[in-house]
Amino acid sequence: MERSVDGKRVTVVGFGRSGAAAAKLALKMGAREAVMQDKRDAVELGDDKVLELARDGIRPELGGHKVQTLLESDVVVLSPGVPKLEAVSAAENAGIDVISEIEFASWFIHGEYIAITGTNGKSTVTTLAGAIVAASGVPTFVGGNLGAPLSEAVGTPAAQPGGALVVELSSYQLERTRSVPFRVSVLLNVTPDHLDRYGSLAAYAAAKQRIFLSQSTRDFAVVPAMDPAMVAMAAAGSAVVQTYAGPQADVRLDGDFIVDRWGGRFPRSLLKIRGGHNLENAMAAILAARLLGVGESAVREGLEGFEGLPHRMQFVAEEEGISYFNDSKATNVAASVKALEGVEQGRRVVLVAGGRDKGGSYGPLRPLLEKKGRALVLVGEATELMKAQLEDLVPVRHADDMFDAVRIARGCARKGDVVLLAPACSSLDMFENYEERGRVFSAAVRALVGTSRQEEDL
Ligand code: ADP
Repeated sequence: MERSVDGKRVTVVGFGRSGAAAAKLALKMGAREAVMQDKRDAVELGDDKVLELARDGIRPELGGHKVQTLLESDVVVLSPGVPKLEAVSAAENAGIDVISEIEFASWFIHGEYIAITGTNGKSTVTTLAGAIVAASGVPTFVGGNLGAPLSEAVGTPAAQPGGALVVELSSYQLERTRSVPFRVSVLLNVTPDHLDRYGSLAAYAAAKQRIFLSQSTRDFAVVPAMDPAMVAMAAAGSAVVQTYAGPQADVRLDGDFIVDRWGGRFPRSLLKIRGGHNLENAMAAILAARLLGVGESAVREGLEGFEGLPHRMQFVAEEEGISYFNDSKATNVAASVKALEGVEQGRRVVLVAGGRDKGGSYGPLRPLLEKKGRALVLVGEATELMKAQLEDLVPVRHADDMFDAVRIARGCARKGDVVLLAPACSSLDMFENYEERGRVFSAAVRALVGTSRQEEDL
């Protein structure tokens, strides 16, 4: 929906990459003023970042959230992850439009969307679907929660009629997204995560379900065929429900082929990403792209060219028959379970896990640890919680830091084992983000196992 900000005041709450992009976009589209509010002051944010804002013509308002500024704004853009703020509620009660950066950017976008959410697999599906759509020759933007904010798509060929936007959305981004006309909305799964913020799984799932709310009867809702809860969430919207990975699904397995309802047949061997979950991710991406009208040869090209993303079951090194894998992106329990499932049959795992707890149970790890576990090496805040729930299954060791963890894991592993970083927790107790955690793990592995047979860390 084209909406104008010409001559208006736009305030962005929460300084981050997408917030800054929204403020810049507001000015580009003719806003009279763009204000950036943040609870942190210039020292906490870093002077260079604040200077950069000012250079772009954005007015910083730091060290708190002034209600008056919000009340005098025509539009308030709320950055993802900003907690409930009294000042924002006051503005909303006074009738001010409070929206997500996604909603704001969509005012100036005329291409067709594939939107992707879920607890796990979003980035993989987004990147793969984006590669498939791009291979069809359509101008394509890939971003959102991953990579470039949607605001940066505005003005590019992808945002014009005939272009495509393949967008990863977090539950935070969906909270204030209400009218974006997603042609295809994909919901991959909902398992416990972010319960520290949402309080209940139902509240978290409701945020995810918003991906279907703005769809009409000519749009498509894509969900896994074998997950009745996801199918029910899709069916509650207006879009036509389409499924993947089930005997009757629109995209499904047929022996060594992935087949789709348009007659496409793609050998599984085209896929370079490993594990059953990635096979499902590939089917989701194929279905989404096909629903946007992409042909068979582009699907093949996209699948073939996709090498997977760093920090997702990334091979780091091998020494004396012991393989080291970095799945630092397994920031919740369900993702760690998939990582363990993805380890080849017959190999035992020394699992390196821990970090900041998110308020769920570690119980789902039990069957796999029992079946495949050699040892569990714990590092970070959640150590005691995890130990209490898992120590009867495998020997548990404590590590002081990631280097220590790799050293201990190497000592526990035997020939043929896998040392796997799949933390089941967020990284924020010890690291800037999961990427940094993965880099430190990989660096520690390299330092300890020498230089034989290693791959470049991406
Ligand atoms: P997201 O962007 O949702 O975090 P990623 O594609 O980055 O998803 O994958 C994150 C982690 O989740 C991976 O490291 C892997 O362990 C796990 N994972 C990936 N796809 C799935 C899936 N379909 N179901 C469950 N877990 C998955």
